[in-house]
Amino acid sequence: MDIEDTLLMIPGPVRVPQRVLRAMSKPMISHRSSDFEKIYEECRSRLRELFETENEAVILSGSGTAGMEAAVGGIIGKDDKIITVTNGKFGERFTELGNRYGTAVLLEFPWGTPYDLERIEAALEEGAKAISIVHNETSVGIVNPAKEVGELARRHDAIFIVDGISSVGGNEFLTDEWGIDIAITGSQKCLALPPGLAMVTVSKRAAEMLEDGKGGYYTDLKAHLDKAKKNQTPYTPAVSLFFALQEALIMAEEEGLAERRARMARLAKGVREAASALDIDLFPQVNEHSAYSNTVTAMKTPEGITDGQLRGGMRERGVVVSGGQSALKGKIFRIGTMGACTEADVLRTIQTLELVLLKEGLISSLGAGVEAASRAMER
Ligand code: PLP
Repeated sequence: MDIEDTLLMIPGPVRVPQRVLRAMSKPMISHRSSDFEKIYEECRSRLRELFETENEAVILSGSGTAGMEAAVGGIIGKDDKIITVTNGKFGERFTELGNRYGTAVLLEFPWGTPYDLERIEAALEEGAKAISIVHNETSVGIVNPAKEVGELARRHDAIFIVDGISSVGGNEFLTDEWGIDIAITGSQKCLALPPGLAMVTVSKRAAEMLEDGKGGYYTDLKAHLDKAKKNQTPYTPAVSLFFALQEALIMAEEEGLAERRARMARLAKGVREAASALDIDLFPQVNEHSAYSNTVTAMKTPEGITDGQLRGGMRERGVVVSGGQSALKGKIFRIGTMGACTEADVLRTIQTLELVLLKEGLISSLGAGVEAASRAMER
């Protein structure tokens, strides 16, 4: 099937709206011009609204991981410890970064299970300069308790770093209220632009810890922050992606930030209800301190069908969904509902899933999933 007719339902990169694509085709400008500075200033101001913060916002040309590296490299030196809380793939990345720049104290929970806040508090009592969490763990579809961990971090005077890469703009994300010192998002997720930008907010407290020449060179958070205050960048930025970001942030404001999050919540609920109607189990286990994600739903691959048959069958019919990562390869599949995703996109995805399940003999008639999703997504 032609790529233009394919429905991309993975948890990022996501479909990019035409308006954003058109913005990217604008003629190039000098990144040292006042025109660029105006765009950067506008983006920084709109990002503060998106992150719900008064903190400084910085934009790095690089994928979300560049933002994670800037955060950890800026705060953690070779004699420092960072507690890295993990219940999925992206938490592990913080551990690797922590060990690259200093020492990571890994606090690991089985993938897709909730954090144990008592264990987190006990680790903080041992002393650490910082603690990192992944708010929306994309690999397993769980939302972790940023507010609660933020309270613990503040009580123990640790810098609180939160990966909000697949969360900011999709799930509730209250940077200031939750005491997040460094928050990160990526362009290819809820904002629905192509991959290539990392947006980072930095509290005063965290900014004071940054030092010249510490951390990575290209991802030096101090260098980026110092320049950002003048709406400039240390190195040549991905200018066309800044055009895209400006347009995407305007579109988000037009829709309304709360309405946009509510849309994604409705779509994810549609997917979950369809799964239930089709006897497909959700993967994450949630408790009172965690939640199902609004931006990605992870489901167990049903008995009697392989991952290749399920996702391959869907792909042949024009719908691309994600599989599991690392140890979850072949065991789960994931449907993204972030960015510009619509109710019609979810219905086509569920209908396609049903066709595949019918072909493989797992269901005997069509329609239960589509009906459940339709009802769940009704406003
Ligand atoms: N953290 C989370 C929660 C993610 O979902 C991703 C990407 O999927 C990353 C980090 C890594 O971001 P990137 O691939 O943009 O570097």
